[in-house]
Amino acid sequence: MMNDLENGKVPTSSSAKIYEQSYTEQDGTKLLMVHDQEGKWLLAVGEGVIFNDLEGTTLTNDKKVCPLSHENRLVLNHYFDYTVPRAFGTKTATMGLGDRLGLASPGHIETVRNRAVKPILAQQSIRELTLLNRTMKDMLDAASFAVFQEGYKDGFGADGDHIKEEKDIEYALSLGVSMLTLDCSDHIPKQIESLSPQELVEQFNQLDEETKAYFKNEYVNKTFSVNGLSIQFDETNVMKNVLQYAKSLNFMAHVFDTYISESPRPIDFEISIDETETITSPQAHFFVANELQRRGVSVTSLAPRFCGEFQKGIDYIGDIDQFEHELREHALIAEFFGYKLSIHSGSDKFKVFPIIAKYTKGVLHIKTAGTNWLEAVRVIANTNPSLYRRMHTYALQHFEEALAYYHVTPDLDSVIPLDQVEDEKLADYMNDDAARQLFHVTYGILLTAKDENGEFLFKDEFFATLNQQEDVYREALVKHIGKHVDLLGL
Ligand SMILES: [Zn+2]
Repeated sequence: MMNDLENGKVPTSSSAKIYEQSYTEQDGTKLLMVHDQEGKWLLAVGEGVIFNDLEGTTLTNDKKVCPLSHENRLVLNHYFDYTVPRAFGTKTATMGLGDRLGLASPGHIETVRNRAVKPILAQQSIRELTLLNRTMKDMLDAASFAVFQEGYKDGFGADGDHIKEEKDIEYALSLGVSMLTLDCSDHIPKQIESLSPQELVEQFNQLDEETKAYFKNEYVNKTFSVNGLSIQFDETNVMKNVLQYAKSLNFMAHVFDTYISESPRPIDFEISIDETETITSPQAHFFVANELQRRGVSVTSLAPRFCGEFQKGIDYIGDIDQFEHELREHALIAEFFGYKLSIHSGSDKFKVFPIIAKYTKGVLHIKTAGTNWLEAVRVIANTNPSLYRRMHTYALQHFEEALAYYHVTPDLDSVIPLDQVEDEKLADYMNDDAARQLFHVTYGILLTAKDENGEFLFKDEFFATLNQQEDVYREALVKHIGKHVDLLGL
């Protein structure tokens, strides 16, 4: 293999998979990614700075086998710009493609190639990383190596997703993320909606005089015209919006001033106010956007909490007409302020994708994550039924634990018992909402579960199966995520 590579030829092999599109020659070094029994490697032949900088096992003076290590990822980043995450700004549609396993990006790249959307290949929240014992470095390494493997040069992003703490913002930015999703839910009080009129006035009156005067002057009995939409405030809803969002607005402005506007490289800055119990009305959305603009905070995208339910991994639940009515207004507001509307928990919302497509007109951010893991589970069901059965049983036994982290409401009694399903039909579980949600929320439990000897119950076999079946997983993603992209008109 190495000799072919030395002669500038992409080799063939019966014992290893060759990623032809990874072949690269630069500054005297030829590089190729391959996959053998033990995993993936970067073969390097030649001389010069790239060859010298890569760590690995030297075979002869000019031939090296290099692991896909964090250090080698940094070397690729240094010499090949296209392996570095980048920001995309407010005019380009982007799709968050959370890859909990570090295996999905090749399929994602194939899905979005030549489409009107850029992939945010790396996207994991601190919650997800913690549940999986994964690190932000692992996430970024996997994305960069996938881009190199696929020879994908059209640009990708990396999102420090749903970050709440300043130390995590600093850390994510220091590692090179190109997008930051600021989760403001800790600064948005619950139960403002349920205050009595008297309690509302009492709480509002506790604010300082300057703040009260400002908001009263600026909003009470005012009407704002937004791209043909008329947004009105009376005293009650001004007080509500102030109590609901004033604290979080200070936090957003602080983060923007401290980290985003000071960043030496462009960062896609997303504001998330979706992780709350309170639905973001178009009026509340306008209020937040208008206040951000006044404070000089420029955002790339903003995620409201839409009406109805965007539960993980299943289709939209709620009144479609009301959703369309409000989505149209949210989209007009986002357009007016010059940022992208962001749709969280966007996996599998097929019923509302055409509506989203119609009003966002190809300029949006949408996040998907769990569905990519569910497609991996589907591959397991199809190719390793015994493993699937063990995982399914374990997930049922440990479902309650997962509810500490996720809001889902599957009717588990409706899931057909495992012993009534033949191997060939196991993958059909991934077409059943309740079974999907069962797996959707138990990923961390399943992939970290250990037996009494400290061995992983499922993780090693799970990854070994997926590594063997990487083409099947790729095709599954191209089909499933491709359906998302098609319906979104991207
Ligand atoms: Zn969210």
